[in-house]
Amino acid sequence: MHDVHREITRWLEPLGAKVYIDAAGNMRAIYPSRETAASGLLVGSHLDTVPKAGAFDGILGVMLAIACLEALGGEKLPYVVEVVGFSEEEGVRFGIPFIGSRALVGRVDNDLLSVQDARGISVRKAIQDFGLDPREIGHAALYPETCVYLEFHIEQGPVLEKLGLPLAAVEAIAGQSRWELTFLGRANHAGTTPMDQRFDALAAAAEWITLVEQVAKTTPGLFATVGSVEARPGATNVIAAEARVTLDVRHRDEAVRSRAVEHLIERAEGVAQHRGLAVRSIQRLNQPAVVMDSFLTSQIEEAIRNTGCTPHRMVSGAGHDAMILAEKVPSAMIFLRTPGGISHDPSESVAIDDVAKAIEAGVRLLHQLASAPTFHSRTCRA
Ligand SMILES: [Zn+2]
Repeated sequence: MHDVHREITRWLEPLGAKVYIDAAGNMRAIYPSRETAASGLLVGSHLDTVPKAGAFDGILGVMLAIACLEALGGEKLPYVVEVVGFSEEEGVRFGIPFIGSRALVGRVDNDLLSVQDARGISVRKAIQDFGLDPREIGHAALYPETCVYLEFHIEQGPVLEKLGLPLAAVEAIAGQSRWELTFLGRANHAGTTPMDQRFDALAAAAEWITLVEQVAKTTPGLFATVGSVEARPGATNVIAAEARVTLDVRHRDEAVRSRAVEHLIERAEGVAQHRGLAVRSIQRLNQPAVVMDSFLTSQIEEAIRNTGCTPHRMVSGAGHDAMILAEKVPSAMIFLRTPGGISHDPSESVAIDDVAKAIEAGVRLLHQLASAPTFHSRTCRA
């Protein structure tokens, strides 16, 4: 990450931006405005990624922010542009996503700093080892002048490719529920226990998993996934006594999501009951849906339209830093078509023409906001 910061600093400084690393390990770059006491626009994405990742998730958003500044050709806007490259968005090391962006909204507290990675190293220690001072994390907060957050990101899904469109305006980021369910049966011999006298936890889990798929397929806009199954004792010749499964439920509408979760848990209880088993369920995450700012979203649509493309409006099923920033400032996102809809994999890609369109739309957006008479009054909460 030090190398990444060094490299990106080399691209930002010649554009006239002042670069520093905040105490949460976020790269921050300030591109001055042509006016004093101006408001600020924050634009960027994350610099970290997942193991066996592609080359575009996150970092493309930072590169596009820099490319937009470059395309301004030295022109200053009536507001400060701050480019941000967030740290720890994916949550790979500590199991907690968005650590970098949480620091900007003041949500990195002692509990979070004490969370440890697999080797027992805390977030606090990791920050120190990186050469930063975790006691300074308060200074990583958003500048009071910052009144907009924009994020370019690859779609990481097949929607835009299917529509044959390069860019989309994100209108909301779907909420997520994560649960862990454990079906509790009885272990017994696979060769001697008659088929009608079994309490097979894994078979119960399997029956429920297909129900989950069915419910999601028949509920518009619902995504429900069982991504992990673990059977105990987990031997070829033993009926499973326990089957632990995960459940991930997403929908843009909070009511639909919570109703779906409730229904799926009820169905698990039903499956367990008619098989003479028990089921235990624990909620692991309840992340509400976040609506993007409607003024910014329509400005993005206009910018996309002005590049000669048809803007598509869509909901993001994946979480992004924008959902954290939206707690404090009006936020919006622009998606780029993702070939094959493939992400979090080395074959992740983007089309060069789409990137060119994104830069063009970004520069148009910066100019639109500069001349929007309602920009400051409508979007500044400070
Ligand atoms: Zn990402």
